[in-house]
Amino acid sequence: MLMTGDQYIESLRKLKTRVYMFGEKVDNWVDHPIIRPSINSVKMTYDLAHDPEYADLMTAKSNLTGEVINRFCHLHQSTDDLRKKVKMQRLLGQKTGSCFQRCVGMDAFNALYSTTYEIDEKYGTEYHKRFVEYLKYVQENDLTVDGAMTDPKGDRSKSPSQQEDPDLYVHVVEKRDDGIVVRGAKAHQTGSINSHEHLIMPTISLPEADKAYAVSFAVPSDVEGLFMIYGRQSCDTRKLEEGADVDLGNKEFGGQEALVVFDDVFVPWERVFMCEEWDFAGMLVERFAGYHRQSYGGCKVGVGDVLIGAAALAADYNGVSKTSHVKDKLIEMTHLNETLYCCGIACSSEGYPTKAGNYEIDMLLANVCKQNVTRFPYEIVRLAEDIAGGLMVTMPSEKDFKSDLKVGKKGETIGELCNKFFKGASGVPTEHRMRILRFIENMALGTAAVGYRTESMHGAGSPQAQRIMIARQGNIEAKKELAKVLAGIK
Ligand code: SF4
Ligand code: FE
Repeated sequence: MLMTGDQYIESLRKLKTRVYMFGEKVDNWVDHPIIRPSINSVKMTYDLAHDPEYADLMTAKSNLTGEVINRFCHLHQSTDDLRKKVKMQRLLGQKTGSCFQRCVGMDAFNALYSTTYEIDEKYGTEYHKRFVEYLKYVQENDLTVDGAMTDPKGDRSKSPSQQEDPDLYVHVVEKRDDGIVVRGAKAHQTGSINSHEHLIMPTISLPEADKAYAVSFAVPSDVEGLFMIYGRQSCDTRKLEEGADVDLGNKEFGGQEALVVFDDVFVPWERVFMCEEWDFAGMLVERFAGYHRQSYGGCKVGVGDVLIGAAALAADYNGVSKTSHVKDKLIEMTHLNETLYCCGIACSSEGYPTKAGNYEIDMLLANVCKQNVTRFPYEIVRLAEDIAGGLMVTMPSEKDFKSDLKVGKKGETIGELCNKFFKGASGVPTEHRMRILRFIENMALGTAAVGYRTESMHGAGSPQAQRIMIARQGNIEAKKELAKVLAGIK
């Protein structure tokens, strides 16, 4: 079944998810002005799946049921599927200008499908069968799932079991006949509040002493003992201003992160996909991270497309679009953005089947992709700010532009004066210039900066995490051999 966007919103209303923000419980979080834009972004993943124009990217045939499903619930069956995933993410970045959150679930499905298969192969467990049943349920109901990996981690010099507070990593506190009880938290969880389900994975490879932390499982987002504390974003309270519009930049869409707390949550065995198999924690982490690093070669490129477009419009509205250095800056932004896309497509094209049968990306290229993402969006934002001009951060508020208060000697209002003095290129309404500058401000410094800038740095793993993988995959020894042969060194 493919849900529509409206059905998705209604399905969220049925959940009893516990959400806290600014120290208070939020009961109607679906319609909360700070949260709703992030829900709208996920809604787009449902709406576009019904648009015939995008059916090829947005939907796929399930290898589990043969049914047409949303690609966000799909197990990649080929390199073509991997490329379509990246293209779908670019499309959604273009349509929302933000993080649309649903990818973490898709990446977790693919990582768990192959890893559970290999755990069972070694230990004779039945995690893969359980996971397949779970994924069928997700596909049939077209659910959004928060694939949750990152623990709070406490003192980074200590392993999970060495922490003064054992809860700084999610762990098993009780094993019962009917299931397990888990405790801990996952930090900065993308899309956790508006997900139907949470799919939990360990955050690092683990030694045997930490086997209580080697746990993977799925729970409904409103399961007893689970709650979320919403992460605030720069300039978020602008969304609470009465009649806010222009000052929001991207009014309709946004991203979302939260602290997800597991306060002794019971999980029945049929929803447990790893329990103490510590030697597979690293594999699961690497695979999930690899898929999510591929993802950034799509989503961030789509958002980059929007930012490049906004910078070009700002140039038009400032009357400088024909200036050669502005043209060159737009070329540079495009070059950087398409380089990220090249990496996303390349690591997909070089994909290969796992033992379980779904497709894995090329690890080295996916890590190079994400490493570039930790840099290029910053340069793209820098150039956008350069083209936009300082007005994007010094402009009076929307209320000033609309003010009827007479302050000029000839009786001009604040609104009239703002419109007069902030007029740009002839023929362009001042409001259009305001809108695009606020839009760039929002992406560079406001709520959307979470998804475009800092998330580019730390999402899917901080830069050093990719460098470790690049070191492991780079095969320097083989390269030394190449040089030796040509240099005549025996
Ligand atoms: Fe998807 Fe990108 Fe957001 Fe990750 S950062 S959830 S890949 S949109
Ligand atoms: Fe992310």
